[in-house]
Amino acid sequence: MASVDLRNIVKSFGKVEAVRDVSLSIADKELVVFVGPSGCGKSTLLRVIAGLEGITSGELLIGGRPMNRVAAADRGIAMVFQSYALYPHMSVAENMGFALKMIGVSKAEVDRKVHAAANILQISELLERKPRQLSGGQRQRVAIGRAITRSPDVFLFDEPLSNLDADLRAQMRVEIARLHDELRTTMIYVTHDQVEAMTLADRIVILNNGQVEQEGPPLELYEKPANRFVAGFLGQPKMNFLLAIAAPGNGPIDFRLGADGPVIVSRPVSGAIAPGDRVELGIRPDAISLVDSGGLAGGVVLVERLGGSSLLHARVPGLRDLLTVELPGTYQAEPGSTVRLGIAADRVHVFDASGRTIG
Ligand code: ATP
Repeated sequence: MASVDLRNIVKSFGKVEAVRDVSLSIADKELVVFVGPSGCGKSTLLRVIAGLEGITSGELLIGGRPMNRVAAADRGIAMVFQSYALYPHMSVAENMGFALKMIGVSKAEVDRKVHAAANILQISELLERKPRQLSGGQRQRVAIGRAITRSPDVFLFDEPLSNLDADLRAQMRVEIARLHDELRTTMIYVTHDQVEAMTLADRIVILNNGQVEQEGPPLELYEKPANRFVAGFLGQPKMNFLLAIAAPGNGPIDFRLGADGPVIVSRPVSGAIAPGDRVELGIRPDAISLVDSGGLAGGVVLVERLGGSSLLHARVPGLRDLLTVELPGTYQAEPGSTVRLGIAADRVHVFDASGRTIG
């Protein structure tokens, strides 16, 4: 059993509270991704679990055993770093077997484990090379292989793909997902890349300012963000945010663009809302479509052609930011022409002044 439990974990560096009261339960065999913007505390949280940083307060358990005072080497974890951290003077095989050799595992057993890991990662033909004779992607595989040979209870990944180019990153992402399927070991993976988080995770934990904003399965977070931060962080292209004013009537509430502006959407919300209250509406680019009549009038500023889809950026009177609309790749329009934009009311998110989702 290699569950990981964090109970009210706080980690301070002097006056900086990098991690502020984080509680989480990670189940055995789960792949959990910590994601968030630079400085949100995700690496610090991972290093606390690894034992590379002490805990200021709170309790850490791995497999139900208290770990606060257990040395990093005795926690049953293996960590893969962004920098690979390979020993330059050792061959790939020596790098991968080093930790086992140090704890007195027999040469035959070390060889067996190194070959098994190399086989999983398809680097068997590289075992005699030195790290400098490898590409970035191959080095990263060796770093992962070194973690695998140790048969840890928990794998920790700290932005392992950040130094790779986009193609290789996409390929290694699939490899890591496959590795998790094959090894069925608990994995905690840190990244700032929301695509990596969405595609890899059984469960995503979104961190901001050292705290958990929301946690849950990727699609749940995407479809039901708890607040504006989560809504804006997940999803590519980014969600549109529109300032709007509530005009409650009977039943659903009209949300207008400005006091006398057009009604953008009419829908019920949870929580009290009064006429004139300001809210923010969140609308994903694929929840907007072109309509023949009705909707909002917009002026075409730019069409970005991505191949499979096109992004229309339109200026709507009364809106501060351009509205981004995701359309089929065949879409064409002249800048300056007028379009009518229909919004799928059931896909509009409503955030109150504090950023909390109310509808
Ligand atoms: P990034 O994606 O940029 O690596 P992160 O989310 O992993 O960011 P952390 O590296 O965990 O963020 O840092 C969280 C906060 O703690 C930051 O404000 C950082 O400056 C601070 N911090 C991290 N390590 C130390 C340290 N050793 N001493 C002092 N402050 C630190």
